[in-house]
Amino acid sequence: MRIETLAVHAGHVVDPTTGAVTPPIHLSSTFERDPDGGYHSGHVYTRTSNPNRTAVEVALAQLEGGAAAIAYSSGSAATQAVFQTLAPGDHVLAPTDAYYGTLRQLREIFAPWGLEADVVDMTDLDAVRRALRPTTKIVWVETPSNPLVRVVDISRLADLAHSVGARCVVDNTWATPVLQLPLREGADLVMHSTTKYLGGHSDLLGGALVARVNDEFVERLLAVQKLCGSVPSPFDCWLLLRGIRTLPWRMRAHCDNAGLVATFLSTHPKVEAVHYPGLPSHPGHEIARRQMNDFGGMLSVQIRGGREAALELTRRLTLFTRATSLGGTESLIEHRASVEGPATLAPENLLRVSVGLEHPDDLIEDLEQALSA
Ligand code: PLP
Repeated sequence: MRIETLAVHAGHVVDPTTGAVTPPIHLSSTFERDPDGGYHSGHVYTRTSNPNRTAVEVALAQLEGGAAAIAYSSGSAATQAVFQTLAPGDHVLAPTDAYYGTLRQLREIFAPWGLEADVVDMTDLDAVRRALRPTTKIVWVETPSNPLVRVVDISRLADLAHSVGARCVVDNTWATPVLQLPLREGADLVMHSTTKYLGGHSDLLGGALVARVNDEFVERLLAVQKLCGSVPSPFDCWLLLRGIRTLPWRMRAHCDNAGLVATFLSTHPKVEAVHYPGLPSHPGHEIARRQMNDFGGMLSVQIRGGREAALELTRRLTLFTRATSLGGTESLIEHRASVEGPATLAPENLLRVSVGLEHPDDLIEDLEQALSA
C-alpha cells in the first residue's frame, strides 16, 4: 500500500457496537474483568493500554514499517524512556546539534544517575567511529537536525552503531515517515515528537517509539512505560490519529512551500545564509536526495545585521507567528538562541521557520515586506 492509503486506513476499525466510522474516545481508566478473571477486550487499565492508544500504535508501526510502536505523553517522554532502559556505566553517543531537550536530559537528568554520554558532529563519520566505546548502547541520530537543518547518513551511522553492538535510534520528528524511513535504512528504533507533523495542528502533545523488531528491548520499554506511566491521554491519541490521516498530503504542501520560501530567501540581499536541504548548495543535499522523498517543511535563516535585525524581522511579519514548535498548519518563526539559552549552538542572527500550509505567495510577500522595511 502507498503511504496515502496507509495513512487513511492504518489502525482504523468501524466500531463494532455502534457502527461509528470515526472511532469513539475511550476515556475509561479501567476495563471490566470477565467472570473467570480474564480481560476479553485485551485492556486492563489505561496506564497499560487503551483502545485509542492501541489504534495510534498500530498506525505508527505500519507507517514506519516497524514491528511494534509505543505511544507516549510527549516526545521528551519517549526520549526519556529510551535512556531509562540503560544502566549506570552505559554510554550514549548523540549529535552535537540534537534537539536541545535531548541533550539536556543526558546532561542534567541521566548523568547524575551514572549514564555516560558524548556528543559528536555526526556529519563526520570518522569522529563518530572514534567516539564509540565498547559500552556504547545507543547511537542517537537526528536528521534533519535542529536548528541548523543538517542531514546525516542514517545507514552509515546504523552500521557504525552495530559495529560495537549498540542500537541506532533516529529522531524522525522533522522528516516523518512520509519523507524518510529510518528502519529501512538500518536503524533499530524511530523516535517521534508526535506533537509536530504527525499531530499536525498544534493542538496535542505526544511522542512515540517504533521498533524494527519486537524483541526484549521493546519488552523493557513497555515495562518502563507501564511502571513509570508516561502515557498519552485517550483524547490526544484520538487527535493524533485524526492528524495522521492527512499527513502525506500535508507534508507534500509543507515541502513545496518550504522549497519556495527557501529559494526566495536565498536570493535576498538581507539574508546571510539559508539552511534548507532542498537547496543544492546545502552540504547535506546529496544525502537528503538519496535518503528522503522530499526535503521537509523546516528551514532556518541567518539575517544580516545580527540578533537585533533578526528579532526586528519577526516583529514585522504578519503571517508568521512568533512561537516555538513546528509542524502545524500555521507558519511559525522563532529566535532559537533565546529559546535554547546559554548552551545554544544557534547563531544569534538565526531564525527557525516552520513553513505552514498558507499559500506560498502570501508567505513570500509577507517576508518581502518585512525584509524591505
Ligand atoms: N525532538 C525534536 C526534533 C523536537 O523538535 C522536539 C520538540 O520540539 C522534541 C524532540 C521534543 O518533543 P516534545 O515537545 O513533544 O516533548
